[in-house]
Amino acid sequence: MKTLPYGEIVGLYEHPDRDIRKRAHEIVYKELGKDHILWASAMRSVFSDHLSMCKMRKWPSPMTQSFISNDVDEETIVALLNTMEKNVGVFRDYLKLKAKVMGLEKLGNWDIEAPLPSSPDKKFSWEEAREIIVGAYTDFDPEVGQWMDEMYERRHIDATVRDGKRSGAFCATWHAGKSAYILQSFNGIMGDLFTQAHELGHAMHAYLGTRAQKPHNYEIGSCVAETGSIFGELLLAEKLLSKEGSKEEKRAVLAAILDGFGGAGYQVTTRVWFETMLYEAVQKGKFLDGEKISELWLKAREKMYGDAVEWLPEMKWWWTMKLHFYMANYRYYNYPYVYAQLFVYAMYRLYKEQGKEFVPKLKALLSAGSSRSPRDLASDIGFDVTTQEFWQKGIDQFSEFVKMFEKTL
Ligand SMILES: [Zn+2]
Repeated sequence: MKTLPYGEIVGLYEHPDRDIRKRAHEIVYKELGKDHILWASAMRSVFSDHLSMCKMRKWPSPMTQSFISNDVDEETIVALLNTMEKNVGVFRDYLKLKAKVMGLEKLGNWDIEAPLPSSPDKKFSWEEAREIIVGAYTDFDPEVGQWMDEMYERRHIDATVRDGKRSGAFCATWHAGKSAYILQSFNGIMGDLFTQAHELGHAMHAYLGTRAQKPHNYEIGSCVAETGSIFGELLLAEKLLSKEGSKEEKRAVLAAILDGFGGAGYQVTTRVWFETMLYEAVQKGKFLDGEKISELWLKAREKMYGDAVEWLPEMKWWWTMKLHFYMANYRYYNYPYVYAQLFVYAMYRLYKEQGKEFVPKLKALLSAGSSRSPRDLASDIGFDVTTQEFWQKGIDQFSEFVKMFEKTL
């Protein structure tokens, strides 16, 4: 028997040993579920408080506050969410393919984020990572490539692993220097390359934004904040896929981006549905205790995953883990992630169609800061975000990656 801190045990979710992953999920959610009376009470308070606020401010829906703070409109978000709902099948198909690769009848919830057993354990040196990532950005645009190289040259990336360093990764804009600083922990695995390409995408955003905007309108809204970073991941994927490599290597690259989309696009959509169900239940005067909340969570989960995944019974307590649900005045933090994922995938398709012609369009978008709304920024590059046809382009790109993944089987 060993006691692990939360930060360490959640790291086991990606452990290559299936039983360890399963145990880690079991233990975490069993423990969290023990306090369901407390969690449910906190959730009831925060959700009821928000509904009272909506009434006082005459907001037509519990989502209105988030529309105002994200500078988006209802039409757009409804089109986005309807598109996700229509395309749950594509995600389930991917999960079933992943089960096949893992030699399983069906994925357990503890397998969704698992590495593929066939993944090559290739390690990348710091120099190799730099060359590949700078190369990926240079293929897109030489000026951006130069800026990215400057991030390494000036030692703006704190990547060493050392005692006492916090985990995770982020990129901070340096406005006065028209540049950025990055923190990550680099161990040379492929996931670290994706993290680095992601954070450098934020740096590209910072280089462009700080050159075009004053600090007061530089701040980038949640729906657009991940545009450079997710695009950077796709540039890296393209670079890695273009290299000579085994089927297993290509499969691992595709799984990395497909799992990313599955998490930030599909799983997060499940949270949006769940949040809506909670407001509806409170509005109808239902008393939400832990069991009732779990029931709603299972309903949302079922709508997304259908029969594609087998769940541990403890996973009904999933909602106790997501701290955002308990942050007053921070409602519907979730759909901007879905927005960003689909928006960038649609944009990537446009890049594939238009090639170099597309480059100045993306640079203009990333230069805009908060001077224009997400809807206007999209319309500048010829996108109408209020339509399902537009969002479908993002799904189509995801589908294409799924097909490429299938071909490696
Ligand atoms: Zn990011």
